[in-house]
Amino acid sequence: MTRVEIDLRSDLMGPRLPKVAMALHDAALRPPAMGYGEDRDEQALIEMLAAELGVEAVLLVPTCTMANQIAIRLYLRDGGRLASAALAHVVTVEGRATALTGVETQVLPDENGHPSPLAVADFLAGRRSGEASLVWLANTHMLSAGSVMPAGWQAQISTACQAVGSALHLDGSRLWNAAVAQDAPMFRLAAGCDTVAVSLNKAIGAPVGSVLAGSRAAIDEALRWRDAMGGGWRPIGSIAAAALAALEGWRERLETDMASARALAGAIADRLGDHAVQPAQTNLIFLNRSGDDASLFVESLARHGVKALMLTPGTVRLAIHSGVRTREVETIAAAVAAANVELSAANGV
Ligand SMILES: *Cc1c(COP(=O)(O)O)cnc(C)c1O
Repeated sequence: MTRVEIDLRSDLMGPRLPKVAMALHDAALRPPAMGYGEDRDEQALIEMLAAELGVEAVLLVPTCTMANQIAIRLYLRDGGRLASAALAHVVTVEGRATALTGVETQVLPDENGHPSPLAVADFLAGRRSGEASLVWLANTHMLSAGSVMPAGWQAQISTACQAVGSALHLDGSRLWNAAVAQDAPMFRLAAGCDTVAVSLNKAIGAPVGSVLAGSRAAIDEALRWRDAMGGGWRPIGSIAAAALAALEGWRERLETDMASARALAGAIADRLGDHAVQPAQTNLIFLNRSGDDASLFVESLARHGVKALMLTPGTVRLAIHSGVRTREVETIAAAVAAANVELSAANGV
């Protein structure tokens, strides 16, 4: 029996486009550049990203985790409080790295992963006098099924932070997907934050890399932190060239991804019922497994040719990426339905 093999564990799993591989190859044949800012493609990528994000300066970093961790060190160097939604990446995945800084993390109440302007105002009002603080936002919020921050919240939160001298960081690893969902330019979604982190290796499909964006002063200091953390990668020319190629036409590609995600969530709901799948907000689809059988379900789904990721015993994630063709949506939904039947039979339902 031939079977399809579609890897939806993460949007990292999209294939690199041929033009990205070609750019990587061609640039790797050029003589490498020695220092920071010396490479032609690195310079072009920096300028392109700064314009796209509407900032003075950007810093290329190996991972979005590093971009986030640098941001904490920029604003809470001498201690202070980080205020974030409970299930943000900085708390869940980066907890150990964040703890190394010695900052206190305060969990803010959130709606669908996003602290409201009111929650942030309460936090700011309750700080000890003179205490440094960093308010943390995430867009999209991965663990809330890739939810998009409500329009207007960031501007209100930014104004409140500026009024009392609190820093504001946005973890925008998937800000690209949010920009497509809201049909807004990236600079609008980045506006009002002191620093913004974005990934190039997820939705965009660059081979590797992330970006920290902000003011010239912030990025100058961030460069020193990056190098102190061992993130001063070089030679970077071929990586930068590949990222530039990957950024060409990103919006159209992500519009296709989002349409596929919506179609897939709909096709799964048609087969399994609305309770089985959360509405697709961006490119991530969350399946609800009421019997806490997510790991068995993931195994069964893999046997039907689709790889997915268990997030909790009751939640399975499917990430749509550039490797998913529109016509494969029905194939994936059929595999999800087949795995569901298999588990129902095993459970004697
Ligand atoms: C993936 C992700 C990160 C970390 O990115 P890495 O490049 O893997 O370190 C940070 N924040 C969010 C919201 C993410 O989804």
